[in-house]
Amino acid sequence: MNARFGLMKKDDSENNPKLGEASTSDRRLETRCCSILNRKAVASSSPGLPLQLPWDCAWRNHSTAKRLRHLTDEPKRRNRFAVGNQRNSLSRVAEAATLGWRSQPRCGSPRRNGHPVSRLPRSRVSQAIASIVLLLAMGITLSTVARNQTRQPLPPEKRLRYQIHLTLDFENRTYNGIERVRWINRGDHPTSTLFFHLYPNIRFPGYAPPTEKTPSGDLISDEPRLEIIEVRAASNGAPISFALDDQETTLRLNLRDAVAPSAAVEIEIKFKGIVPEIDPEETGLLAHVVQQVSAAIRSTREVRRARDTNFRCRGVIMLGAAYPLLAARSGDDWFRRIESSIGDALMTEAADYEVTIDVPRNVALYTPVPVQTAQQKEGAHSSSFMAENLRDFAIVAGHNLRSEEKQIGSIVIRSIFRPDHEATARRVLKIAEDALRVYLARFGPLPLKSISIVDAPLVSTMGSAEFAGLSAIASAFYIDFDSSTMRNMPEPIREQRASVEDSLEWTVAHVVAHQWWGAAVGNDSSREPVLDEALANWSALLYYRELHGEPQAASALEEQLRGVYKLYRTFGGDDMEAGRAAREYRNSFQYAAIVASKGALMFEALRKLMGDEKFFAALRDYYSANSLEVADMDDLRGAFIAEAAVEQRRTVNRTFDRWLSSKRGDEDIGPPDPKLAAELGLPARANAKADRNFFTAFAKVGKFFWQQMTKIR
Ligand SMILES: [Zn+2]
Repeated sequence: MNARFGLMKKDDSENNPKLGEASTSDRRLETRCCSILNRKAVASSSPGLPLQLPWDCAWRNHSTAKRLRHLTDEPKRRNRFAVGNQRNSLSRVAEAATLGWRSQPRCGSPRRNGHPVSRLPRSRVSQAIASIVLLLAMGITLSTVARNQTRQPLPPEKRLRYQIHLTLDFENRTYNGIERVRWINRGDHPTSTLFFHLYPNIRFPGYAPPTEKTPSGDLISDEPRLEIIEVRAASNGAPISFALDDQETTLRLNLRDAVAPSAAVEIEIKFKGIVPEIDPEETGLLAHVVQQVSAAIRSTREVRRARDTNFRCRGVIMLGAAYPLLAARSGDDWFRRIESSIGDALMTEAADYEVTIDVPRNVALYTPVPVQTAQQKEGAHSSSFMAENLRDFAIVAGHNLRSEEKQIGSIVIRSIFRPDHEATARRVLKIAEDALRVYLARFGPLPLKSISIVDAPLVSTMGSAEFAGLSAIASAFYIDFDSSTMRNMPEPIREQRASVEDSLEWTVAHVVAHQWWGAAVGNDSSREPVLDEALANWSALLYYRELHGEPQAASALEEQLRGVYKLYRTFGGDDMEAGRAAREYRNSFQYAAIVASKGALMFEALRKLMGDEKFFAALRDYYSANSLEVADMDDLRGAFIAEAAVEQRRTVNRTFDRWLSSKRGDEDIGPPDPKLAAELGLPARANAKADRNFFTAFAKVGKFFWQQMTKIR
């Protein structure tokens, strides 16, 4: 599971779609997309094509619109249409369709509240046919281009850049910062409005701040806070007016002069922040297990909170996203809205970073990259970091942190830990090295120079948190089973040594894979969490297969993927489509079963269907075409369809539909376990409280249950 924050597309404040409803800008794009599909339908027909496609405009489909828009974006153009000598007729159809779509007037589109909305298509069939032609064409274009082109990275002056200076007051959990941001208008129109996200300010719906006060009378906050002090033009220091929108989670800048397409602007933002202190009890193994049982038995609703990745606990400060972070953009549309859900992540664009952080001398500091230069100042230690191609810049600081590292080719891999976890941290480093080697060989090179894995005291709803170049795994699972703490644990937990250690291995392989799926290839993980989550989880299976061989991979498949789904179903959880938005999943138990496990099993089904050679070729094409971009499901689907043998394309497409858009999990994975279900009568009524009675009540449920409940989710 991953803990980056989710975004939802939104392009103006009056136009705020309800849950599950398309924003009007999506509708506008859909209208246009319908119009090309209709036009193409006139010219093409082919028997035997699937009649129901996700590209059908009758289905509200953000990703089609986004996909088409992507093809017209500068970075996507650079990637996909870089090859000038494409002479494939289908490719030309796609290109023509895209271009036609761009210049097509919006004819006959009904309007609602002044915004155009899509009309139901007259003929689903003809559209579907047109859709598949377009789909195949796109797929082939994409695949051929991915293979033929040598991708030119953007020159430094064309990239987004953050120069940040942060001063961290460890004792008071506060920081002050100033950042200079270079923003480049990659849209087609001039704009004078810029949006930044203030992630620490996200609150879940219905959040009520605590009323408890410090002895000096200040309110004790249980959430972090990021405040903007001032904003200026970097060129002349002139103040820039700004506003805070969406409950202060969005910073909107109103520039004096519009920024022309391809032009850059530099802004300076002064800010300060504070993080809450988290009770260590919330981060222990017992708390993690109780949380999971509660999610399983009572279907408790869980939502990620800003405090989950911005906090101090057990002498460690984590700043997941401490500074104003540019919202991502697609064409001229900003991905503005952010919302809480059980899923993920920060959707941002890759940028270069130059960061200087001052901390007290006795505090060790870690970021996604090793320190470049360090200086002693009065009582403080000033460290500078340089990084390229990061989507965020997470910071971890602590009195007692240490690290070990290993160089693998051009990448340094580090394990960062508290001294009492040294043995586990070494094991983590070894697993991460092996995983890195497997993925480098199978997926392709990473645009990063270092990867760090941090032993961090994460709260019980979160097993791991992923950032660009840095992943945190909950300290709760860095367990020494021979320690006195473990001897005091309830028996059902103590008995799970092998299972917990195995789960840590799986999780390390999973978080390393997120550097390919999530960090290098970005995606909107609030809308399509399956893209990074499922692929990272399937990658862990690949690691098992390549490192330990088929028998161990088969048991990992059973325990880490199929078992998670089966247990979820046995507990009465409904099968769901794996392709839904993150907010539609109730908690980490459901999210792990459907998005991470069922989603990962789709990739296994595709591999079996296509064979290793074509499967990995498709995955590599998808990776290379979307590295340092923001991909969507159509990019992934297109890559697999394009790589499949012609007679298999329809089946590949249906495989995507089957796992992502239908509920066939019981047939494909396995039905609920009746024996386990029968055993569940008693615990279902038990009171989920973290005490010994709780464990006694569940003791008879059996090993399989506890294996699953002690997993890192
Ligand atoms: Zn994950």
